[in-house]
Amino acid sequence: MIDIKYINELKSIFGDDWVSEGTSIRELHSHDESFHSHTMPDVVVWPHTTEQVSKVVKWANERDMPITPWGVGTSLEGNPIPVHKGISMDFQEMNKILAIHREDFQVDVQPGVVYKEMNKILGHHGLFFPPDPGAAATIGGMIANNASGIRTVKYGATKDYIMKLTVVLPDGRIIYVGNRARKSSSGYNLCSLFTGSEGTLGIITEATLRLVGLPSNFMAVRAVFPTVLDATNTVFSIMSSGLVPSAMEFLDDKVIEILNRDRGISLHEMPTLLMEFNGFSATGLKEEMGYVEEICLENRSVFLDKGIGAAERARLWEMRHLTLESIKRSHAGLLPLIMDVAVPLSRYSEIVAFVKEEVKGLVAYIFGHAGDGNVHVVVMGKPDDIERWVLIEKANRNIVLKAIEFEGTCTGEHGVGIGKRRFLPIEHGEGLVLMKNIKTLLDPNNIMNPEKFFV
Ligand SMILES: Cc1cc2nc3c(=O)[nH]c(=O)nc-3n(C[C@H](O)[C@H](O)[C@H](O)COP(=O)(O)OP(=O)(O)OC[C@H]3O[C@@H](n4cnc5c(N)ncnc54)[C@H](O)[C@@H]3O)c2cc1C
Repeated sequence: MIDIKYINELKSIFGDDWVSEGTSIRELHSHDESFHSHTMPDVVVWPHTTEQVSKVVKWANERDMPITPWGVGTSLEGNPIPVHKGISMDFQEMNKILAIHREDFQVDVQPGVVYKEMNKILGHHGLFFPPDPGAAATIGGMIANNASGIRTVKYGATKDYIMKLTVVLPDGRIIYVGNRARKSSSGYNLCSLFTGSEGTLGIITEATLRLVGLPSNFMAVRAVFPTVLDATNTVFSIMSSGLVPSAMEFLDDKVIEILNRDRGISLHEMPTLLMEFNGFSATGLKEEMGYVEEICLENRSVFLDKGIGAAERARLWEMRHLTLESIKRSHAGLLPLIMDVAVPLSRYSEIVAFVKEEVKGLVAYIFGHAGDGNVHVVVMGKPDDIERWVLIEKANRNIVLKAIEFEGTCTGEHGVGIGKRRFLPIEHGEGLVLMKNIKTLLDPNNIMNPEKFFV
């Protein structure tokens, strides 16, 4: 247990209401959405300003006390679990949009802003922040995990939207990295260093994000195929045709089966591609729809549902939302291990075929952001059913190794956390030594989110 003297010192920094050692609060901050073992922090704090963050980080560094930043805990690899206990720093109270620079297509935000809420407000200005991980994630958590999602195929990942950051370093120093210019060749790209660092190098207390204009019209297509290969070949055909989908999702027959059962719908239980395209006019989109249809039919599509306009898009995409929830609901008592690898697009068909073989015999659902070469497999099991869990872990390992062999990555978007640490030496080789040197340089006492990245 943490010394009461320390609690009192923390309360003098934050105020009595913003420091808690309550068991239920600590339990809430002991896990993310993954199966990884829970670890309760000793104390949870809620900062309101960068200066408070700086003060407490300096204080913790002098006492070798671990600090793990906390967005809202929707990670899938154990990223915000405070494995060395200490302080969980929750950014829920630093949740303000500070300025909207409409003419610059930028927004200044605090890290606790939930991106979906932010996009509702930005929508009134005709703007939006495209990375879309689906869950109710915070901007701090998205930057720290370099999150992406269904729109990445057209718009890129979170890293492509970071212009400027305020970061508190592990010794308490406050630094400002990046700028608001649309281009810059000025020195090392420190915004990139902190993006995807999962709270291991410093704490982000403010960000300037790049935005894009809201698309004016939409076209959506759901295409059904007789085999997985026909569907994955279509991904390559569409991407190499010059068409630019704003979303391109693959769902295997088992996912459709569970969605039918869970939602009471009746879609073809066959490999499916869901696509979205943005454009100005219905006429232009109609022409593109013709090309998409042609490509799908060339790849043996047996059924196409399609439409133009926001309502049609919502109708066609409704089944994709909350896929993970439908899977979880259908297997009460089991936990998901969510695999997440990405490969070059030319290897997408091969990796999906490999995954399908590897998970045969497991309770497994394959889907993913196909246009990014990103595959997810949700495998349901119980970590304490050792015999079966060993098989799940083995499949996960084989899939990751195959993705790396294909010159891909062990994690397309969920980050390293606890789950992917063991694969970093294989993926990065000597590069990992450099990462470790950077970590030691910035955080010699290893207080920032320890036991992540490096085993
Ligand atoms: C149903 C579901 C679907 C998902 N789909 C996707 C998807 O499609 N794409 C995708 O990329 N992810 C997806 N995720 C994973 C998750 O939503 C993202 O990784 C998200 O970015 C996590 O944000 P968070 O606010 O929950 O952060 P948390 O989980 O609380 O934290 C994430 C990491 O960021 C660090 N951190 C938090 N705040 C700060 C800060 N201010 N400074 C420094 N470090 C900080 C934490 O220490 C931790 O390491 C999904 C999750 C769920 C549950």
